[in-house]
Amino acid sequence: MDDVDFDELVSSLTPREENSALKSYQNTVSVSCPACGDPFDDLVVCKDNPTSLNLSRQLDLCVGVDDGRAVIFTHKPQ
Ligand SMILES: [Zn+2]
Repeated sequence: MDDVDFDELVSSLTPREENSALKSYQNTVSVSCPACGDPFDDLVVCKDNPTSLNLSRQLDLCVGVDDGRAVIFTHKPQ
């Protein structure tokens, strides 16, 4: 994600929840996923290393790294 301005991307999103392991944001304005180009649903920043994601639904995921932290873009399966 070298050419992605992550701070700018996050500033367009709505913060949703944060705990000691991760922080999530909702994409309410249909920002395009930097990995695949489709609008993503949520962005999850992993704060712990390693960390577990307890997904309650089946999701397609795109993954990047920002400043040493894993960043996950979730997409609902079509
Ligand atoms: Zn994607």
